[in-house]
Amino acid sequence: MLLLELMMPYQVAANSDPLIAHISPTASQLDLSPYVSVLVDREHALTIEDLSGFVSTLQFRSLSETGNSFGFDKAVYWARFSIKFDHLLKQSFYLHVDYPMLDSLILFSEDGNGGFTRNMTGDNYPFKQRDLSFRNFLFELHPSPSGSIQTYYLRLQTQGSMQIPLTVWSSSALIELADSTGLAYGFFYGVMIVLMLAAAVAYLFLRDFLFLSYALYLLSFMLFQLSLNGFGYQYLWPEMSGWVNRINAMSIGNVVVFGFLFCGTFLRVWQQQDRFRYFYYVLMGVGVFSMLLSLFGDYSIAVVFAASAGILMPPVVLVSTIHSILAGYRPARFFLLAWGIFLMGVFSAGLVYFGWIERDFYTHNSMQIASLIEVLILGYVLMQNVRQLNLEKISATQDASKYLEQLNQGLEALVEERTRELNEKNSQLSDLALHDSMTGLLNHNASIEQLNLLRKAAQRYGYDFSVVMIDIDFFKAVNDRYGHPAGDQLIIAISQVLTQSLRESDVCGRYGGEEFILLLPETSAELAINLAQAIRLKIAALEIAAIDNTPITASFGVAVFDSEQPKTDLISKADKALYKAKESGRNRVVFEA
Ligand code: GH3
Ligand code: MG
Ligand code: MG
Repeated sequence: MLLLELMMPYQVAANSDPLIAHISPTASQLDLSPYVSVLVDREHALTIEDLSGFVSTLQFRSLSETGNSFGFDKAVYWARFSIKFDHLLKQSFYLHVDYPMLDSLILFSEDGNGGFTRNMTGDNYPFKQRDLSFRNFLFELHPSPSGSIQTYYLRLQTQGSMQIPLTVWSSSALIELADSTGLAYGFFYGVMIVLMLAAAVAYLFLRDFLFLSYALYLLSFMLFQLSLNGFGYQYLWPEMSGWVNRINAMSIGNVVVFGFLFCGTFLRVWQQQDRFRYFYYVLMGVGVFSMLLSLFGDYSIAVVFAASAGILMPPVVLVSTIHSILAGYRPARFFLLAWGIFLMGVFSAGLVYFGWIERDFYTHNSMQIASLIEVLILGYVLMQNVRQLNLEKISATQDASKYLEQLNQGLEALVEERTRELNEKNSQLSDLALHDSMTGLLNHNASIEQLNLLRKAAQRYGYDFSVVMIDIDFFKAVNDRYGHPAGDQLIIAISQVLTQSLRESDVCGRYGGEEFILLLPETSAELAINLAQAIRLKIAALEIAAIDNTPITASFGVAVFDSEQPKTDLISKADKALYKAKESGRNRVVFEA
């Protein structure tokens, strides 16, 4: 048993005996993964001497067994690899660590005298201290002139996710790499910036919060990518070495917050998805919390919070997208496509960060590739949205103006109709006020009014003006014998006789029940008497079916306006004459001078 335990380390060491990487004169680039083995130092206690000692019993494990992604681990990782450089090499070679968020890296290279030279880098060190200005970490490797095997130890430590993607590049290949990735990244950020500006401008014009949330989301995503691939540190905040980790951590929470904000706005989660809303609120809350924690607290914990919320984003957004589609919201279908592609990218990137899947070119860049497709699709959907809004606005404006026109026409017709009705009613009312409804003659008051007007005119222009009062004889008897309706009939018949006998300028009124008044401008007493006599005869000749056997007659009193005595009451005067006519036997005309 003891023997077995003693043998174990040797056995393991033997099993994982590292392969040696050969760099030939034509080599340009080599993935070191098959040649790297790692040792995890949880106590941060080991030194280079412990590792390189003659009989080291420490367990290195091959990277091909463990994968190169180790998740959130604060332990010190030692990576060991041996390289045999061909002695004909003319170029210099670089060790490339394709993950710019590691805090501290120290490369130990054999110095040929049994010791090691050390080179330090990492995002804990100011960017300007780097030998080469490059977003990722580079170490120049110095092949021994003799072409012997050289062993390297790389000590890695970080508060974030531990990734050990190691490659070796010739200087010329490195230039080509920088060139081509520079172009690719330039394209990526170019598209992002254009879309972000377009969304921001759309927001300024349309004031639709959706566009603002999209612009913010793109901004936060760009920030996140900039810190993820080292450009942010290289170009935007190279002086802030103490803050790099905090900014990196903060950018993840930032994406979570604005990602949920945009998705929620697009899918109308805030208004329509009652239960799901709370998932969004909680996860955005986690995002905000992790942002604050990144800046002011333990950013290594903040990253875990943010990444957890980020990993929950795909299922949460997916479910609410499907909910939205089922609710009949058409743009959500595009969203499913766009977001689906993106989330697969994020998901695989997230899995790499947690160290659950292998890191390679596709998984490492999956988020960027997918996000590019995603934002383009979303940009298209949003532009469609603008177009749709525009079309709706145009047709709404057309509808509105058509409606207004119709309304206007309707209103005009209505006003016309009402005015006509009003005029009719007014004339009806004034008719009612002035005329007697049974005979259509002027009523008592109107008759007096007319009389006063005509008297004034006669006074002013000096023409003759006569007044005749008429009263039906023994009318009571007609009522009594034939009934009231027959009496009415007689009143109407006589009123017709009167109007038919008058000139246009003459006025006839119903002064009382069966009393009438004639106002005759420019008529002398003689003419008035003649007219009265003519009317008297017409009345006497009346034949009314309802009234047989009874002679119908009327008595007349005539008075004339005297300009010498303008105040004389013509009605009393005519009345007096009428009274005399009655007294003297009825059916006659009496003139009162
Ligand atoms: P006289 O010859 O003295 O005038 O005798 P008379 O019967 O006509 O007497 P008087 O002029 O006083 O009669 C008025 C009567 O007229 C009284 C009333 O019943 C009747 N009368 C008044 N207005 C109307 C009416 O609108 N319709 C009918 N049928 N009768 C009316
Ligand atoms: Mg009478
Ligand atoms: Mg009478």
